[in-house]
Amino acid sequence: MAERTLRGARLGGQSFEDERGIEFAARQQVGYKCSNGHTFEITMSDEAEVPATWECPRCGLEALNVAGTAPEAKSEKPARTHWDMLLERRSEKELEEILKERLELLRGGEIGPAHLHRSTKRRASV
Ligand SMILES: [Zn+2]
Repeated sequence: MAERTLRGARLGGQSFEDERGIEFAARQQVGYKCSNGHTFEITMSDEAEVPATWECPRCGLEALNVAGTAPEAKSEKPARTHWDMLLERRSEKELEEILKERLELLRGGEIGPAHLHRSTKRRASV
């Protein structure tokens, strides 16, 4: 039996375990193009990790994923920004107070660029 292995395609019960009103597992068509210019599409489960390369069914060469990188953003958490991390440690109100305090120090010449320093004492930065 020439049974082709569908790498990446999860055929079988696994995809259906988690049905939340979805009719069958979502599928995606992934396009590939080999260096001979053959293009073809592979049907994969939406959950499958899309391989960057696939063997060309016509000439056997390695074909590259046309899309470059598959849409994968949906399952990924949005990247944490510095602001997010900051907010995990301080509330905005706290930050406002700190800012006010620092601004006063800055205006008083206590901190800030050296050429603005009026006093000689150096303060360690936060
Ligand atoms: Zn080919």
